[in-house]
Amino acid sequence: MAFTLAIIGRPNVGKSTLFNRLVGRRVALVDDQPGVTRDRREGQGHLFDLEFTVIDTAGLDDVNDDSLEARMRRQTELAVRDADAVIMMIDARAGVTPLDQYFGDWLRRGEVPVLLAANKAEGIAGEAGRLDAYSLGLGEPIALSAEHGLGLDELYEFLNPLFPEAEEPEEEEEEFGLEEDRGPLQLAVVGRPNVGKSTLINKLLGEERLLTGPEAGITRDSISVDWDFKGRPIRLVDTAGLRRRSRVEDKVERLSIADTKRSIDYAQVVVLVLDAGLGLEKQDLTIARQVEEEGRALVIAVNKWDACEDRQGTMRAIRDRLQRSFPQTRGIPVVPISAREGRGLPRLLDAVMAAYEVWNKRLSTGLLNRWLEDVASAHPPPAPGGRRIRMKYITQARTRPPTFAISCSNPTDLPDSYLRYLENALREDFDMPGTPIRMHLKKPK
Ligand code: GDP
Ligand code: GDP
Repeated sequence: MAFTLAIIGRPNVGKSTLFNRLVGRRVALVDDQPGVTRDRREGQGHLFDLEFTVIDTAGLDDVNDDSLEARMRRQTELAVRDADAVIMMIDARAGVTPLDQYFGDWLRRGEVPVLLAANKAEGIAGEAGRLDAYSLGLGEPIALSAEHGLGLDELYEFLNPLFPEAEEPEEEEEEFGLEEDRGPLQLAVVGRPNVGKSTLINKLLGEERLLTGPEAGITRDSISVDWDFKGRPIRLVDTAGLRRRSRVEDKVERLSIADTKRSIDYAQVVVLVLDAGLGLEKQDLTIARQVEEEGRALVIAVNKWDACEDRQGTMRAIRDRLQRSFPQTRGIPVVPISAREGRGLPRLLDAVMAAYEVWNKRLSTGLLNRWLEDVASAHPPPAPGGRRIRMKYITQARTRPPTFAISCSNPTDLPDSYLRYLENALREDFDMPGTPIRMHLKKPK
């Protein structure tokens, strides 16, 4: 799911002990692909403020014809394929064994970040084994005691930077002042039928308020629901297709453009839900374009991630398609989720809030004008017919979305490509990924 950590190592080094420690009591046995993942466990792990999926590759003592190496190899391959990070665990008291060596070699050739952990390192008995582990060529081994909870700080330090959304960069108050009290964040969830919108909303609201599934039944008649996330009030506004769920033909009804438009109109941030199995298709792009045209902040949720077989490929295809279709709006957040299992939702909401902040961003005139001087001297505007176009100054006319006015000697002569250059530079330099940006040119009075 969101972030996945795999624990790798030969039997008995303490993988399950660490797994249990990270997952706590919320252990879930995952066994939905018989024969393939039969002997692996997955659970939701926590380490301080980090939440992630943990895969434990224990259970190798199943009766099986394969050699231990072959089974471990298969396990490891599967786990590593799904993982964003790997803990390679050895038993510090036993030192490095040939089997450790074998897996060390294999992991070293991969691309996933690996943390080498010498477990059972409480007391002094493990120090020699820990030092021995340097020989695996996987960097500095940390001293871990899964049983006693030692070394978790180092595990945290390894994991924390790998999480995509670290903290927001610090902003200077007066230069990047945000507007004060803005009321609840108005959120809409849109997407084609059956991608999992109702399931997502139910999960977000934490109760079965909306009906999901194919049966007819009760729906809410009000058009907004308030709740909050991390103390931030959020208002879920009228959501396309939900209100008419009581009619069976809705399931076959094609995407209602009018409903979607209505939701977008009411919203500030729009979550476009995709089905990971279907990817980003034409209809989705149509909705995304609508969001962009209306100047709303867009976040893409790739749902049914639990059922997605080729996660990397799916993500890549979606990103590529977005990049091609929205070359101007770089950095639209794409968050994998499983609405049904409630996974990835905090990350989705974090992305929603971050998108909202960018959408609200206000840049001071002083800062903008210094910036304009820089970019214009780095790459001056053209001089059609020998007369250079002069850009006098720039201000931010509005937020939501960020809208800028540039006063310019002869606006009609400034090529679109140059405006795009300015827009891209502005987006990059002031860290405004994903949000639509508007630029207007005015003739000075
Ligand atoms: P796995 O086969 O790699 O999953 O290993 P387990 O988690 O089942 O642990 C194997 C044995 O090592 C068990 O008896 C654990 O109690 C023990 N063990 C696990 N972690 C530690 C540790 O940090 N210190 C010590 N001394 N023993 C540990
Ligand atoms: P909506 O038409 O977009 O509101 O979609 P629903 O919420 O009614 O979901 C459509 C179908 O997809 C239902 O059968 C859900 O159980 C299923 N579904 C929703 N979310 C997930 C998910 O995260 N994983 C999987 N595998 N199925 C899901």
